[in-house]
Amino acid sequence: MRRKTKMVHGGITGDKQTGAVSVPIYQVSTYEQNNVGQHRGYEYSRTGNPTRNALEEVIADLENGQAGFAFGSGMAAITSVMMLFNTGDHVLLTDDVYGGSYRMMTNVLNRFDLSHTFVDTSNPKKVEDSIKPNTKALFIETPTNPLLKITDLQKMAAIAKKHDLLLIVDNTFATPYWQLPLDLGADIVLHSATKYIGGHSDVVAGLVVVNSEKLAEQIHFIQNSVGAILGPQDAWLLMRGIKTLGLRMEAIEANTRKLVAFLESHPQVTKVYYPGLKKHQGHEIAMQQAKGSGGMVSFDVGSSKAAETVIEKVNYFTLAESLGAVESLISVPAKMTHASIPRERRQELGITDGLIRLSIGIEDSEDLIEDLEQALE
Ligand SMILES: *Cc1c(COP(=O)(O)O)cnc(C)c1O
Repeated sequence: MRRKTKMVHGGITGDKQTGAVSVPIYQVSTYEQNNVGQHRGYEYSRTGNPTRNALEEVIADLENGQAGFAFGSGMAAITSVMMLFNTGDHVLLTDDVYGGSYRMMTNVLNRFDLSHTFVDTSNPKKVEDSIKPNTKALFIETPTNPLLKITDLQKMAAIAKKHDLLLIVDNTFATPYWQLPLDLGADIVLHSATKYIGGHSDVVAGLVVVNSEKLAEQIHFIQNSVGAILGPQDAWLLMRGIKTLGLRMEAIEANTRKLVAFLESHPQVTKVYYPGLKKHQGHEIAMQQAKGSGGMVSFDVGSSKAAETVIEKVNYFTLAESLGAVESLISVPAKMTHASIPRERRQELGITDGLIRLSIGIEDSEDLIEDLEQALE
């Protein structure tokens, strides 16, 4: 099956009993058993639910993995994956990792003595130099938020293999439509499905896909033990979103390219960050490991005052956190998603006060460009 076909026909489709074309929402907690200890595949919905299971099958198919798992949020998925490790273990993470992952490592899991180092993973040498005897995993985000920094996943896979580390990739920005980390050597791929996979700003969810039976058993054990599962209604919404993921990603890509060209030519814009730009750092690696550049673009207008003026004046860009939806969103990372990072650290990373982040939707590109044009005037 090719990619768009998989999104429609992958995993479990419909309902054999009735012929229903859409997977039913099994709004149920428990299941009648034939005899003591003899169930029909399902016993309790934390352990397994047919609607969730259908979603887990399709995401495993899309990521070319062994097994998929659905969680109540992206953070629930990331936390559950971190439960693979023990007290005393150490994890290396991309330095401008998602703020919630940063917070969880530095304020929650540190209390359990799971230690971490944030490193510029776009530099493989720095990664290797940061490996300690107790390092157990590399946790990579590519492209990153909001500067769209690129990490070479094949190089990370080689380092992980050499040092016997698990390679975990947060694939939220790229989606399985454009980038398949497991094919590039990752062990675990995960998503905030709240973003592109759901795609309609109406569900919070997380997904994990693993590349081996052993990891599948371990993650299922953790999913059932910790219990941070996704409910059947939300699982159904994600399956509905997945059916149009290919169409949406293509439309978003086309819109984004036009907007990027416009921003590049605008005198008020001092810098544009987009992996599809030839001059973008890591552009060639991005083109090798992903089939598209996605719908996230950041640009600098020089000052926080200028950024605020743009935000005030736009009509079609909704001022909101989150990303990856059909509607275009706008944000100022320094004041919103990255406000909890100290200003000095933000400056170091390049997240200036005049930086604006866009998540491009599927509106008419002419409307989006005209809107930005009048706001930048
Ligand atoms: C949003 C996001 C998360 C967290 O996901 P939630 O669904 O909000 O819990 C993790 N990683 C990335 C890259 C994200 O954008």
